[in-house]
Parts: sequence; C-alpha cells; structure tokens
Amino acid sequence: MKRIRNIKVTNISQLSPNMKRITFHSKDLFDFPENEDGGYVKLLFNQKSSSNSFLRPYTIRSFRKKKLELDIDFSNHFGNQGYATKWASRAKIGDEILISGPGLKKQINENSDWFFFVGDMTAIPAIACYLERIPKNAVGFVVLEIISKDDKIKVVKPKNIKIKWVVKSKQNPSVLVDTVKKINWLNGKPYVWVACEFHKMKGLRNFFQKKKKISKNEMYISSYWKLGLDQEEHKLVKKEDSVEWDNN
Ligand SMILES: Cc1cc2nc3c(=O)[nH]c(=O)nc-3n(C[C@H](O)[C@H](O)[C@H](O)COP(=O)(O)OP(=O)(O)OC[C@H]3O[C@@H](n4cnc5c(N)ncnc54)[C@H](O)[C@@H]3O)c2cc1C
Repeated sequence: MKRIRNIKVTNISQLSPNMKRITFHSKDLFDFPENEDGGYVKLLFNQKSSSNSFLRPYTIRSFRKKKLELDIDFSNHFGNQGYATKWASRAKIGDEILISGPGLKKQINENSDWFFFVGDMTAIPAIACYLERIPKNAVGFVVLEIISKDDKIKVVKPKNIKIKWVVKSKQNPSVLVDTVKKINWLNGKPYVWVACEFHKMKGLRNFFQKKKKISKNEMYISSYWKLGLDQEEHKLVKKEDSVEWDNN
C-alpha cells in the first residue's frame, strides 16, 4: 500500500478567479521525494485508509523539502462538483487532509525538436512544471483552455515557447481541439503532451496520431476527468480506453 500522509493547509492564494493554490505543511513530508514536481498525489476523502476512499489525483505543483511544504493548484468548475473541488473551495488554514503517493511521474523527451503542450485548467499545474524544466532554448506551442479570460496565469517558460489561451465556450465545445488543429507546425518532430477532458483528449489523440503521425512514444496523452462522470467512473472508462488504444 502507498504511504499515507496527513498534511495541513498553511496558505491559500487565488492565482486567478478559477485557480487556487493551497500550500500544505507536514512533518509527514520529511520523506516525500524531491524532483516530483509535475507528478501527482491522490487526495483521500471519507476514509482513514486508501482502500475504501474516494481518491482524487492532483498534481504536485511544487515541493520545498527544507520547509516540508507542498503546493497544489486546484481548478474550480461550475455545475456538478465533487469532493475535491468542494473541499478546495471551502478550505481554510489549519484544515487537514490525507494524501497518498506520489504516483509514478511520466518522463518527457526533452531532446525532441520542439514541444506541443495542450491542456485545460486541470493540466495547467503539470504543464507549468514542464515549462519550468525544459531547456531554455526549447521551441514550440502551448494551447490552454481556461474558464474565463481572467484565468490566464503567469507561467515561467522558455522565450520561444508560445502560449495560446482559449476560453471555454458553450457555443463551441470543440474550441480547444479546433485551436490545436490550426497551429502551424514547426520543422522536425515534436514531443506532444496532452491532458484534459476525456472526449477532448480523444479528439486530440485522433488528430496527433492519425493526421500528424505522432507515435505513442512521442506523446503523453491522458484524460484527467470526464464530463458527467466522477473520478471513480472516469477511471473505469479510461482503463477500457487505454486497453483499446494499446491494441491498435
Ligand atoms: C494525474 C492527474 C493530475 C491532476 N491534477 C490536477 C490539478 O493539479 N488540478 C486540478 O484542478 N485538477 C487536477 N486533476 C483533475 C482532477 O483530479 C479532477 O477534476 C477530479 O475529478 C476532481 O474531483 P472532484 O471530487 O472535484 O469531482 P468528481 O467527484 O471526480 O466529479 C464530480 C463531477 O465534476 C465533474 N468534473 C470533474 N472535474 C471537472 C472539471 N475540471 N471541469 C468540469 N467538470 C469537472 C465530473 O465530470 C463530475 O460530473 C488531475 C487529474 C489527474 C488524472
């Protein structure tokens, strides 16, 4: 079983109207591994052990070993909200929560000719970590779907990585996928990194794999959630889909 840690909220800052950074501190973090930024932990709701809990994966935005501090950026969303989103929106200093992990971090190919990162607000924390880490002379694009135009947050990135922000639209639900398709490709092979809602992920996977002939080892593509399903239900659909994808 993964190590369970109890962590306590020590700071909360609003990065944008729909993105909140919560800083946690705990002596339990003394053996939390360094250099896992961009990887993830699971927040545990309802139970004292991981076996019967509702688990919600969240990205390790930053871990400061000396201070035993962990930052997690929580995106907000409207409509049906689950345990994690409600917890984050009500969180106050002193609140405690259990986490398990960290989970296995995906390595990206830092030697590719260029980079193409795509995500919605749930993926901004991971993409922000990668942008801080890739070589300073890296080139490429980032397309990020945000809830409102005020959700553009400051990210540290190489000068020649261009960010395109698109605002989520009820009228045009495929605005993220459409924007990605319109980007003019650079020479050479990109490394593609995508995380977003399940249907959008499938649209993007189709585009990168079929149209642009990007092979599986030149991309990381993942759904972080699925419209209308909670994380337990999404996990099952995701598993079925990955078996199908592995076999094609
Ligand atoms: C590896 C990984 C890392 C992740 N890192 C982050 C992170 O750093 N920050 C972050 O904000 N999220 C992150 N996510 C996404 C997050 O885990 C999900 O959004 C999760 O479902 C939220 O849990 P919940 O309890 O609020 O909602 P659930 O109980 O899972 O779902 C309740 C309802 O909310 C809907 N829903 C869930 N997420 C969204 C959304 N983003 N927009 C609109 N509707 C939604 C569901 O479809 C469902 O109808 C990550 C996911 C993965 C797999």
